Amino acid sequence: MSERQKMPNRKPQERIKDFESVALGFSEEQALIEAARCIQCKKPLCVGGCPVDIDIPAFIELIKKKDYEAAIKKIKEKNSLPAICGRVCPQEDQCEKVCIVGKKGVPVSIGALERFAADWELATCQKSEIRDQKKLLVKVAVVGSGPAGLTCAGDLAKMGYDVILFESLHISGGVLMYGIPEFRLPKKIVQAEIEYIKNLGVQIKTNMVIGKSMTVDELFKEGFSAIFVATGAGLPQFPGIPGENLNRIYSANEFLTRVNLMKAYKFPQYDTPINIGSDVVAIGAGNVAFDSARVALRLGARSVTIVYRRTENEMPARIEEIENAKEEGIKFKLLTAPIRFIPDEKGFVKEIECIQMELGEPDESRRRRPIPKKGSEFVIKADTVIVAIGQSPNPLIPHAMPLLKLGKQGNIMVDTETMMTSIPGIFAGGDIVTGADTVISAMGAGKKAAVAIDKYLINK
Ligand code: FAD
Ligand code: SF4
Repeated sequence: MSERQKMPNRKPQERIKDFESVALGFSEEQALIEAARCIQCKKPLCVGGCPVDIDIPAFIELIKKKDYEAAIKKIKEKNSLPAICGRVCPQEDQCEKVCIVGKKGVPVSIGALERFAADWELATCQKSEIRDQKKLLVKVAVVGSGPAGLTCAGDLAKMGYDVILFESLHISGGVLMYGIPEFRLPKKIVQAEIEYIKNLGVQIKTNMVIGKSMTVDELFKEGFSAIFVATGAGLPQFPGIPGENLNRIYSANEFLTRVNLMKAYKFPQYDTPINIGSDVVAIGAGNVAFDSARVALRLGARSVTIVYRRTENEMPARIEEIENAKEEGIKFKLLTAPIRFIPDEKGFVKEIECIQMELGEPDESRRRRPIPKKGSEFVIKADTVIVAIGQSPNPLIPHAMPLLKLGKQGNIMVDTETMMTSIPGIFAGGDIVTGADTVISAMGAGKKAAVAIDKYLINK
């Protein structure tokens, strides 16, 4: 069997100077070699590893036959956002983790092949078949236009429902637009896939903060028969240590939104600069921390360090992105936790007092629990800090609806079978239910909710 094809990346010294894509995607030749590595298993475990059940061997076989149009159609039977998933899904923990070729060797590069098929469609301006939907006279509202909302809306539209998607920001896409940076997920790709959802018949209304501009009760009064809430986990968490309100300490959410959505990286072309020093520390080791660190580097920071309380083995970020960050020169300070931010005389952060950690027994996250080492405090230089230690569910809708049953973290509770909340006719899914998770798990929830909403409306 031939070797797994490597994703071609731009050279680190070149890519850290701009926000253009790091990964360039497979060439046709590479895609054909990689597709031939799939042994077309009779019981393909990869499909079970995909939260939206893509028929992976079937689309890979179509790539092998060079029938790219049929390959992308096959993917879109289950996944409406393939160019996005092919770029950001943690395949190493899902389909590729269980790929049978991977048992004795290196798994098939399923994600890169998905991206190849999706990019082929975008590059050749092919339009996936859009059926002339027979509209049912039943209206469904979807609140939040991240991957959960977009998927649910698209699937309901395919079933013939009249779907209106409400988004609080001026642009749709959720974290795909305001969180994940351009060099990992170009915004024109996100908007092209949203266009596909619109072509399925979904109407998107932006600048609509449900719970403020309009309440959920008003949506029912407007004639919506069911509502899917997919408002995500955008509320930043802070460590709760002294000094966290100092100048130039950002939540990752604020930092990335200013850069991605308000285009701070294009200042002065855009009127929204971001104040960044020369020694930047990003706290945390998930995708959000790595994105923040790599953005800071591209904005011109002299040194960027990831401070993390566990080791590299426990880092939740995608492996590919950890490797990319290392190549780009991001430094790691591991087994280290901040305990105090130290100001300069003008109220800007100057240093961080940290403590060394050691790993104990696994905790509820099944990762080994970090324990502070007594007397090991030390100080590191940091004139900019980006806090990326997690996000909680957006509280607006839960606060506006006191009858909604919530979990401990303020997440909306749903029946896992029906995706219905404690209020009949209101469904929820994605990060607002699970807490911060992944694009594909949010999409899986959106798909499941669409089926459940259809069943509910038929019974009604
Ligand atoms: P979101 O994407 O958060 O979308 C929710 C939407 O609801 C937003 O557009 C918001 O504006 C809107 N909204 C909120 N309140 C209201 C309201 N009251 N009325 C109307 N609209 C409202 N996952 C991966 O799989 N791979 C990655 O590489 C990856 N990298 C990430 C990098 C960053 C920086 C971040 C922040 C997350 C990353 N994730 C990644 C996680 C992934 O993006 C999320 O799990 C996913 O976007 C959740 O989807 P969602 O639809 O539930 O919510
Ligand atoms: Fe192909 Fe791997 Fe899926 Fe088998 S498990 S069908 S080899 S991708």
